[in-house]
Amino acid sequence: MKILLINLPRYNGISVTREGRCELLAPYRIDPPATLLIIASILREKNHDIEFIDANGLNLDYSYVNKFFKKRFFDVVIFTFAAKISDYELKICEIVKGANPECITIGYSWYGKYFYQEILSEYPNLDILMIEDPFSIIEDLITTIENKGELNNIGGISYRNSNKNIKINRELKKRVKIEDLPLPAYDLVKSFQNYHIFSPLLRPYALVYAGKGCPYSCQYCLVANTKYSSRTADSIVKELKYLQNEKCVKYVWFFDEIFTLNRKKIIEMCVKIKKEKIKIKWFCDSRVELVDLKMLKMMKKAGCIGISYGVESGSQKILNSMNKGTKVSQAMQALQWTRKARIPIQLNLLLGYVGENEETLKETEIFVKNTLPEILQISKISPMFGSEFVKLCLKNQWIDDRSSWKEKLNASPSDLKNYPPLSLDLDKEIKKLRKILRFNPKWWIITLFTLLRNKDLILPVVGAFLKHSSSINLI
Ligand code: SF4
Repeated sequence: MKILLINLPRYNGISVTREGRCELLAPYRIDPPATLLIIASILREKNHDIEFIDANGLNLDYSYVNKFFKKRFFDVVIFTFAAKISDYELKICEIVKGANPECITIGYSWYGKYFYQEILSEYPNLDILMIEDPFSIIEDLITTIENKGELNNIGGISYRNSNKNIKINRELKKRVKIEDLPLPAYDLVKSFQNYHIFSPLLRPYALVYAGKGCPYSCQYCLVANTKYSSRTADSIVKELKYLQNEKCVKYVWFFDEIFTLNRKKIIEMCVKIKKEKIKIKWFCDSRVELVDLKMLKMMKKAGCIGISYGVESGSQKILNSMNKGTKVSQAMQALQWTRKARIPIQLNLLLGYVGENEETLKETEIFVKNTLPEILQISKISPMFGSEFVKLCLKNQWIDDRSSWKEKLNASPSDLKNYPPLSLDLDKEIKKLRKILRFNPKWWIITLFTLLRNKDLILPVVGAFLKHSSSINLI
């Protein structure tokens, strides 16, 4: 079949990331569409005729896309989309159908599993919505379309049947393991110069999945209790080698929920990276109890120049309330080890969870004073649809269940009503936490030394300081 995979245009000029749970506006980075490139690879193995456009990466707008479809014919168009801006994203379906009503449109969004009915009702030109892992669906789905078979045999999709009724096949027939996936079809990307992470200076850049899913149960998180599967060290290193040698990639972000979940694999991967003389610098996310000094030192030698830790709070009471499953002492230890290994630390905090009060905020301030992370990312609790926290909010009537699906998706902290922690001035607390770092000479010295030991970051950090870059998170 003749299939086009399209990474949709930017939103009002702002780059959009559409990778699994991560549907976000990202003015500070441009991610290559790894999910679409893996889908391309799966379909090419089945001899489908694949084309790819990265409208986001190349900054092509909908008028370009419109003209493109007037000239070209495809049997199927596949895309990922950010449901929170679906009015904008799903214009693609009108454009495709306007040019060729026979072309089948297939979309994937993380939130499809919650709002398939609403999405398919509101956007009649979207034919099929993948509501589960697209890698486990796409091959059978396209084969069925090609053979004019019945869609009711395909698990993990929602669609309209011949009577125009919306149907859902929730259960996947089988879930493909990430280790069994082919390498993304990187040859479809002309240049990785179009992509960067954190700063336009950190390029050419690629987003790589070394594993996927998370077995933990943090109450505020969308990915909690999802099936974890991981690639082998050999396959990750093969991908890095290809990206370095064939695509001149210099920076990678491992997009796993928890990169260090499988210690043995990480150690093996670090050894192989050294052996293969791979010079790519990389970033990852981790949990504080899943690192140790030996592993961190090996990661540093293998190119790691940044770890983001979801510490969330310096109060044990709040960590317990979040069901985080970590201890403040573990967080303290992990950050000390990371500094000893000379890896820059990004500390993520989440203020205002259930039970937060003046005392617990004070404990977080003390934690920040004692650890002085180079980067501090602070969020306020928000009723993110799909998290356990939202269930708690509904039970306690902290949010209104009657809001529309789009309001639910775009809910913010201000939608919480009679929620005790919001009597605290969290905006003031955020400023206070930032000042703890900025007015501490020791933090400046630590940051300066960190930069000197991670030279790739010097210019991007200086640039960010000058520009005061900001970010808008949708999730
Ligand atoms: S916050 Fe991190 S560790 Fe917790 S459930 Fe989500 S991905 Fe897993």
